[in-house]
Amino acid sequence: MAGASVALDGRSSEVPVVAVSNRLPVQLGDDGWELAPGGLVTALRPVMQRRSGTWVGWDGGSGATPSRLPSLSIDLGAVQLEQAELDGYYHGFANRTLWPLLHNAVEKPVFDRDWWATYRDVNRRFAEAAAAAVAQHADPVVWVHDYHLMLVPQLLRERDLGGATGFFLHVPWPSPDLFVRLPWRRDVLLGLLGADVVSFHTEGYRSNFVRTCRRVLGDEATFRGSEIVLGDRVVRTTSSPISVDASELAQLAQTTEVTAELQALQRQFEGRTLLLGVDRLDYTKGIIERLLAVELLLERSPQLRGRLAMVQIAVPSRDDVVEYRELRATVEQIVGRINGRFTVPGEDVPVHYLYRSLGQAPLAAYYAAADALLVTPLIDGMNLVAKEYVVVQQARRANGVLVLSEFTGAALELKDAVLCNPFDVEGLSQQIERAIALPESDRRRRIAAMARRVRAHDVHRWVAGQLSPLSDMLPARSPLASKA
Ligand code: UDP
Repeated sequence: MAGASVALDGRSSEVPVVAVSNRLPVQLGDDGWELAPGGLVTALRPVMQRRSGTWVGWDGGSGATPSRLPSLSIDLGAVQLEQAELDGYYHGFANRTLWPLLHNAVEKPVFDRDWWATYRDVNRRFAEAAAAAVAQHADPVVWVHDYHLMLVPQLLRERDLGGATGFFLHVPWPSPDLFVRLPWRRDVLLGLLGADVVSFHTEGYRSNFVRTCRRVLGDEATFRGSEIVLGDRVVRTTSSPISVDASELAQLAQTTEVTAELQALQRQFEGRTLLLGVDRLDYTKGIIERLLAVELLLERSPQLRGRLAMVQIAVPSRDDVVEYRELRATVEQIVGRINGRFTVPGEDVPVHYLYRSLGQAPLAAYYAAADALLVTPLIDGMNLVAKEYVVVQQARRANGVLVLSEFTGAALELKDAVLCNPFDVEGLSQQIERAIALPESDRRRRIAAMARRVRAHDVHRWVAGQLSPLSDMLPARSPLASKA
């Protein structure tokens, strides 16, 4: 089995890469196994495909994942999980303990000792599968992803397999005051610090992490700026915002398929200002606050009734978790109330609610059609939807406006958005009103500036920025070694 490889700047050799994430990047489609859509897949696919690659992850319960796809030169290291393991590790500890804890406890994290035990066991299973992949290569880069697998770096280090290990956290890191609520805080921090580099979307999350380490590990580690020294090892912490494949998305936005779907949407919403929301149905996304702000706007401005339409695409998510089922019920109740209050007899409803996931082309058509995209999370590690919108708007020469929560990672980059504080529903409704009233030339300038930023900091730059420092830590390899 050969490893994926990443070309090193200024070096002719190539370094194998072993990626480790919760899910394998494949799904069973109508025509057999295919790549699954998703940000991480988009990000890693070009690197993993340059030669053959190894990706370790849960098989999604299929039990029959091939070790390689004919259409893709990626080796798959499948981890199979029993239902009880999935319940404790994924539905329990990952989604009901870590997810809310890392998102500023906007819902209360649940601490359950059995879930924690299962999380540890399952992380060990992933580490074993990753170690098997690492053993196939001489000194690979191992790239571990996200909050599901925070113990894997340390579990790999204990095996002393060589190579360099990076960890990227795709969600925020909260302030130490919040994180120390976790009874197993020390174990999780030491798990992460098994990596050579621990990386975050923003400087804020990175510095929260270092401050958390200082507070919890103050007696056993020393601190040198962004570096944490544990015994004879130095762990670097860095920040780098994930992004989208801007040029691929811009191309998609200009296809005849997207054009046809866009024209249909333009006919459907002709003469009305179209507001759009696109989110997984998650309590971090501020969907309730957004709907309440639109309701307030319609209440305050009768002249907008019949002239304003909103489409909310709500992607089903974690509906086996009670908090998510309750959220869905509340969202659907508010949508019903707004439509009941403000539908003009004989005309279309103000809020269109789609509880489903759309493919990339129909989604791009919605992005192109929307006069304003409302991205209003209470907290969000990054938010790729915001980046996708500005790229599509610019590719279609449209003049929409982005209303963006200041509590998203994306807000640090998309400075020409109309920023909002979703906790202030009345203020949010005023910002929406202000956004749709901006002069066209101003909206165009803002979209162009934000699209430029995303193009210049696309996902390929992010991947290279993550992998090259790790590659530089490896012993120099001969050109022949990489061909093995
Ligand atoms: N997305 C999609 N279909 C949909 C809605 C969203 O494929 O109907 C994709 C969207 O293009 C984006 C991702 O889902 O790439 C959502 O990423 P984001 O960072 O905004 O939020 P997350 O769901 O990761 O919290």
